[in-house]
Amino acid sequence: MSTVLGIDVGGSGIKGAPVDLEAGDIAEPRLRIATPDKSSPKNVAAVIREIIEHFADSIGDGPVGVSFPAPTRHGVIPFIANLDQGWAGLHAEDYLSDKLGRPVTVVNDADAAGLGEVHFGAAKGVPGVVILTTLGTGIGTAIINDGILLPNTELGHLEIDGYDAEKRAASSVKDKKHMSYKDWATKRLQRYYEVVEMLFTPDLFVVGGGVSKDHARFFKYLKLETPIVPATLLNRAGIIGAAWQANWRMDHPD
Ligand code: BGC
Repeated sequence: MSTVLGIDVGGSGIKGAPVDLEAGDIAEPRLRIATPDKSSPKNVAAVIREIIEHFADSIGDGPVGVSFPAPTRHGVIPFIANLDQGWAGLHAEDYLSDKLGRPVTVVNDADAAGLGEVHFGAAKGVPGVVILTTLGTGIGTAIINDGILLPNTELGHLEIDGYDAEKRAASSVKDKKHMSYKDWATKRLQRYYEVVEMLFTPDLFVVGGGVSKDHARFFKYLKLETPIVPATLLNRAGIIGAAWQANWRMDHPD
């Protein structure tokens, strides 16, 4: 199998790399380009094109998987919290396939990370309920039961103590407010994870997103019943899961 390009569109960066789906990891160093200030469909498509061109030799005319910080239903983005509102209501799959001249599959970013981790990482072979959270500009979630993903769970938007949870506990809030890891963990993350734990009684929490590489600096402050581990694929999980999904779609067209 040749490599499949996975691209992770985030609030601050758009990252991509060809993925070797047999090895379950990126096959070349990833390319990161800053998300355009106006993150409209047109501007983001231009960055995705740049990433495709950069890896053209490795990916041929193959499909591309793109993960988005928004739910996706059959290629359509119903709403979006942290990118340009031009995406809301758009059939992103048709739009990008048309603009880029190749099959594009879109998937929620946390679901992509969940797929990456369930096939190749910390959630692989784990029985029961695994909840993966990505901590970044917002909070994304993926719920996996016995290896099967329930997509679009959006638990970053749980209302907790009168607030949209991600507005209190995302790592972007920590950065904006210059909070220490300890304050962020004890004052913001603890409450978030304990509510999710109470609602879902998971067997395992997996934490992805850029900040997951610093897990040793904040996991120690969390007091939870549920074991919590970093994503094995760290911030590559979204890229790998997006590529996995694009490859799966080639075998399972609508
Ligand atoms: C979005 C989710 C996304 C998460 C992380 C939230 O604001 O609604 O779809 O997974 O941010 O990017």
